Amino acid sequence: MSILSELSERVPGRAHGPGTTEYDAGAAVFAGVGEPEVVVRPRTAAEVATAVGLAAASGLAIAVRSGGHGLMPVDDGLVVDLAELSSVEVRADGLVSVGGGARWADVAAVLAPRGLAISSGDTRDVGVGGLALGGGIGWFVRQQGLTVDALREVELVTAAGEVLTVDAEHHPDVFWALRGGGGNFGVVTRFVFQAVPGDGLVGGHVHYDQSDVPAVLRAWRDVMRAGPDELNSTLIVMPPFAPEMPAGPQLAVALQGGEQRLRELLEPLLLLPSVTEVSLAPVAYGDLLEDAPPGRPPFLFVGGNGFVPDLSDEALDAIARAYDRDVPTMVLLRGLRGAFGRVAPDATAIAHRDAEALLIVNGVLPPDAGPEQIAAAKAGSDAALAFTTGTYGNFAMERGEEVIASMYPPATLERLRRIKAELDPNNAFRQNHNITPAG
Ligand SMILES: Cc1cc2nc3c(=O)[nH]c(=O)nc-3n(C[C@H](O)[C@H](O)[C@H](O)COP(=O)(O)OP(=O)(O)OC[C@H]3O[C@@H](n4cnc5c(N)ncnc54)[C@H](O)[C@@H]3O)c2cc1C
Repeated sequence: MSILSELSERVPGRAHGPGTTEYDAGAAVFAGVGEPEVVVRPRTAAEVATAVGLAAASGLAIAVRSGGHGLMPVDDGLVVDLAELSSVEVRADGLVSVGGGARWADVAAVLAPRGLAISSGDTRDVGVGGLALGGGIGWFVRQQGLTVDALREVELVTAAGEVLTVDAEHHPDVFWALRGGGGNFGVVTRFVFQAVPGDGLVGGHVHYDQSDVPAVLRAWRDVMRAGPDELNSTLIVMPPFAPEMPAGPQLAVALQGGEQRLRELLEPLLLLPSVTEVSLAPVAYGDLLEDAPPGRPPFLFVGGNGFVPDLSDEALDAIARAYDRDVPTMVLLRGLRGAFGRVAPDATAIAHRDAEALLIVNGVLPPDAGPEQIAAAKAGSDAALAFTTGTYGNFAMERGEEVIASMYPPATLERLRRIKAELDPNNAFRQNHNITPAG
């Protein structure tokens, strides 16, 4: 009997093969369209358990799809599409229960009218599942830390088809692993988060021309160093893509506080002669989130990301040089510290808590770029990434052991691999940044 027929019998109406709209929706992710054997679209944790138990027992690879913004297209095995498990509810105890397939826009729609927020990503369509399990860096990172730092409990379906409630007291090792270890340990059907006050925000953008990128980088570093936890920002330095997308630095910023205070804090950045546009105004938490592009842009990105412990002048000079070269290069700096840095490195699976910022630097090449162009782009990006100490997996486009070793320091990785061996010894959950079970 085919796995599609077996699943159709065991979870009637939930298993979908090629040629159905449910299959097409489950097979398509941000990075492209895959051809899995079957897509299952469960409505309950019990249905997830049945499907996962069956697939794991048959040796099938299981891919879990929440918002579809992290998964590579899957060409074999089972996709568990959590689209139907997307409810968001503020519980009587004030904690927020979020289905494993919800998107951050669903969360904001429920929380914003109540004046609440959860430290999360910047984009509406990104899924709660992938972002939260991989860490989660977003607008409240300096007030509340990572998304995983706001996590209080999960409902987890294991490869054995068991449904576990996991928190600091129950299966504490698994709770630790789920906070940064990604989708390696099972399917999370429900997350429970602690929300924080999310109102009283003011924010917007400041744009600059390309005339003095080093000055913008330094002013940004100094403003974020001196600023309070309530100040969050990202500085993107854009290469010349197209006439309607001007090149140069762009600051996206939000403060939980008044507009006057924001302008005072940003003064060194607002007074720079290269400023071309300033738009700052009160903003609702939900409106801080942006729409994602329709799919991965048609370029070859050559570089990567990393946590920068110290944005020294030397590091900033290297970043400015990486931008100012023949290869069009995109740089992104996200301010960290605050609550992010007050979590002990071994308290969750995200250990790089000493980071001052997250740096992403990529040469942007045409898809058919040759090896010489790629090598030149890589060398330029690597010179800036030399100032980083570890990779943030959620933004890592490559897969493999080298990436895993860069995401997790040795002690963290060893602990993750031991927990993986207990929960998923046959590595059914391997369509991800894969942590292989300890041997
Ligand atoms: C446009 C865009 C904007 C982004 N912005 C941010 C940002 O601001 N901050 C940030 O931190 N990251 C950001 N990211 C990165 C993002 O966190 C990752 O790509 C993440 O994996 C996406 O989650 P998803 O649920 O949409 O992806 P999916 O492709 O659905 O899932 C990715 C992986 O997570 C695992 N997974 C997902 N859900 C579950 C679940 N319920 N149970 C078990 N495993 C699960 C699976 O292993 C899966 O392979 C962004 C990505 C994109 C493409």
